[in-house]
Amino acid sequence: MRAVGIVVLVVTALLGTAYALGRSLVPDRPASDVTTSTGQHYADQPPTDDPDRPTPGDDRSTGPAVAGQDGASPSGTPSGTPTAADGPYGTQTTSGTSQVALTFDDGPDPQYTPQVLALLREHHVRATFCVVGENAQSHPDLIRAIVADGHTLCNHTWNHDVTLGQQSPNAIRADLLRTSEAIRAAVPNAPIAYYRQPGGAWTRSVVSVARELGMTPLHWTVDPADWETPGADRIAGMVLTSVEPGSVVLLHDAGGDRQGTVDALHEILPALTSRFKVAALPNGAT
Ligand SMILES: [Zn+2]
Repeated sequence: MRAVGIVVLVVTALLGTAYALGRSLVPDRPASDVTTSTGQHYADQPPTDDPDRPTPGDDRSTGPAVAGQDGASPSGTPSGTPTAADGPYGTQTTSGTSQVALTFDDGPDPQYTPQVLALLREHHVRATFCVVGENAQSHPDLIRAIVADGHTLCNHTWNHDVTLGQQSPNAIRADLLRTSEAIRAAVPNAPIAYYRQPGGAWTRSVVSVARELGMTPLHWTVDPADWETPGADRIAGMVLTSVEPGSVVLLHDAGGDRQGTVDALHEILPALTSRFKVAALPNGAT
C-alpha cells in the first residue's frame, strides 16, 4: 500500500508540474474572445470586437495567442510572410500556395448556389464550399452539383452554431459527424477535407475535434462582409483591393439575400483570374 501511495504522490507531482507548465505556455484566452451568438443566423460575422474582423491594419493584437501553438507558424519562416496555419489556434488562413481560394459558406441554397456554380463554371474556376448540414440534407442535389463541378467541400456544422466551440468535445464531434454524414448521404465517400467554424468563433476544442476527424480547420484571409449586403460593387471592390497571392476569400452563397454576392462575382471572377490562379483548396491537404 505504501508503494501505491508513493506512486500516487509522484504522479500527482508530475501532473501538477505539467499543468503549471501548460499554464505558463498557454495564455488564458479572455472570456470576451469566446464569441457568443449574435442572434443572427447563418452569417459569419464576428462580433464587432472580434479580432478577426477585417478592419484595416488589423494585426490581431487583441486576438487569441496563436503563435507557436498547435503547429502554428513553422520556425524559419521569413517574418512578414503569412503561413497557411497562422489563424486562431493554428487554423489555416491562406491557401499555402500562391493560389487564391474562394470559399462560399452557409449553403447550399436553391436560389443562390446554382447561380454561383454557373458563374464559376463560366470562368473555369473551382472553389471551396463550406456547407451547413441541414442544408445539405435538404438539398442533396446541390451537394452533388458542387462535387460534380470539382469543387472542394468543407464542413460548416449542422445548423451554423456559432457557439459550438464552447460545447463538450463529444457534442462538437457529434455535430461535425452528423454534418459530414448528411453530405455523404448525397455523395457517398465525398472528401470533406476542411472544417470552418461559424462566426470564426474558434476554440481549442473545436480545432482539436476537427483535426481528429481529419478536417483542416479553415479560417480566411479576406472578408468583404458580404453578409452585411453592402452591394455588389462594394463586395467586389473589397475583394479586389485586398486579395494577395494565397488569400482565402470568405463569401456566402446562403443565409440571407446573397444576390449582391452573386452579382459581385461577375466582376470578381474575370478580374481575379486575370491576376491570380484561382483554385479550390486541395482535398489532400491536412
Ligand atoms: Zn457561416
